[in-house]
Amino acid sequence: MIIDGRKIDKDLKLEADVVIIGSGAGGAPAAYRLAKAGKKVIIVEEGGHFTKEHFNGNAYEMVKLMYRDAGSILSLGNTGIVIPLGKTLGGTTTINSGTMFRTPDEVIREWQEHYGIKTITSEKLEPYFKEVEEITHTMEVPWELMGRNNQLFAIGAEKLGFHGFTLKRNMKNCEGSGLCPFGCPIDAKQAMHVTYIPLSEQSGATYYTYAHAEKIITKGPKAAGISGYFLKGKYGVEPSNYKFEINAPVVIVAAGAILTPLLLQKNKIGKSSGWLGKNLRIHPAAKVMGYFEENLESWKGIPQAYCVDEFSNEGIIFEGFWIPPSMLSIALPAFGKGIKKMMLDYNHLAGFGIMVHDSSSGKVKPFGNAPFITYKMNKEDLEKFRRAIKIASEVYFAAGAKKIYPPIFSLEEITSPSKLSSIDTIKLKPDMLELSAFHPMGTAKMGSDPKDSVVDENLEMHEVNNLFIIDASIFPTSLGVNPQESIMAFSSYATDKIIERWDKLVK
Ligand SMILES: Cc1cc2nc3c(=O)[nH]c(=O)nc-3n(C[C@H](O)[C@H](O)[C@H](O)COP(=O)(O)OP(=O)(O)OC[C@H]3O[C@@H](n4cnc5c(N)ncnc54)[C@H](O)[C@@H]3O)c2cc1C
Ligand code: SF4
Repeated sequence: MIIDGRKIDKDLKLEADVVIIGSGAGGAPAAYRLAKAGKKVIIVEEGGHFTKEHFNGNAYEMVKLMYRDAGSILSLGNTGIVIPLGKTLGGTTTINSGTMFRTPDEVIREWQEHYGIKTITSEKLEPYFKEVEEITHTMEVPWELMGRNNQLFAIGAEKLGFHGFTLKRNMKNCEGSGLCPFGCPIDAKQAMHVTYIPLSEQSGATYYTYAHAEKIITKGPKAAGISGYFLKGKYGVEPSNYKFEINAPVVIVAAGAILTPLLLQKNKIGKSSGWLGKNLRIHPAAKVMGYFEENLESWKGIPQAYCVDEFSNEGIIFEGFWIPPSMLSIALPAFGKGIKKMMLDYNHLAGFGIMVHDSSSGKVKPFGNAPFITYKMNKEDLEKFRRAIKIASEVYFAAGAKKIYPPIFSLEEITSPSKLSSIDTIKLKPDMLELSAFHPMGTAKMGSDPKDSVVDENLEMHEVNNLFIIDASIFPTSLGVNPQESIMAFSSYATDKIIERWDKLVK
């Protein structure tokens, strides 16, 4: 059952076995598994319930409706980086690109060798990945649905001998309308609101939307519930007059890697290791654009459909992207007339994303009710961008581009491969790059040592019993690949551990 919190007209006091804060990649699979095991599960979600009935392709309106603070969350530091987050039933999965990757084996090995992770192995996670892929209909993108934008990058990469592949995505009957990050108009993208959430409802889970969790209730060393308030208004940003209290012996925080540490910090929980809110990784991203004489209509087809991983051992991968004109015009490495010129060429432009497996890190702390995010890009990651921008430009020239727009503010368009050396020689600084980041992680990292981590390997907080963090916060490092499948698999794994230990947890 999904209950619209804006329609609640009295204070609520509820009882459950498990209460979950957040309905995204972490929260929804946990709700499904626990409800299926017969637990009474209540989920509170700050965003509203939106589906294909609402997804009208108007990107600007969809961002206001489903992105936290209309997509304006930013990290500060030696550069500003936009970090968009979903605030809707299904969390960020409802507005993401649908790409699915398992956690790479080498990342799990690194956690075992350097981060004290002892019990989690790729073999143990294997059945969970398999189940996630089944439930979310994960499949490889067919070549014909890729659109010209992705096809050209694939062609260029192949000419240069770079390894690439069509991505796997959670989708069913996708028509390639190119609107994934703004709500799929036919709900072909198998985000949480069309997969795990309906499945968990079938087993009795109850969702309250427009419900903001504020306090974690504890009794002695254990979590005992949460409290908060309902929201009102079209965008659900104002508190209504009504509050809720949900008592439950098991509490799961799944508010995402920016909001989870914020909520816990405001509750003064989880400070003892010193790591809560720190170790923020974001997979900083930039895009290289190419101009082609061909009428590409890059808006047709799946925007994120192809990946070049030839340089993944250097911490660089390339993935397709495309966004409608209203969004692209505010995300170009140009000013004034430069933006106008590029937008007039909209149908001739191609764009491909660079994603960096970051060793840089940042912090989240409260600034009133908002997250204050800082992130400092280090030299190593900056140089990864220099190298990646040059490689993507070479790929586009190999595919027939007439000019390249690198995401470096002081560099003009580049009109021939011989001029790409300007990328090597420019005195690059982080604030010269046009950057964004879509994968915040790591702010409540897991580990066996309570002095060096926030949650243990069952994702239970070291500091408070029966309080679990099940979202992107728990990864000790960045993953180097898109994280949603890892979050779903870790959620399923950790929830099985809760079910196994249930009698001990509630005694
Ligand atoms: C545009 C975009 C494209 C992306 N594309 C991909 C992709 O293709 N593949 C991929 O793997 N990843 C992608 N991602 C990232 C991926 O979607 C996220 O990593 C993932 O959804 C994070 O899961 P989570 O459970 O940690 O948090 P979320 O999915 O963000 O869920 C957290 C939920 O908690 C709610 N919440 C927060 N605080 C409170 C509170 N106090 N009370 C109540 N509710 C609260 C939020 O409203 C939100 O709905 C993309 C992200 C973006 C922004
Ligand atoms: S490309 Fe496919 S999954 Fe994305 S919005 Fe269009 S139909 Fe939906």
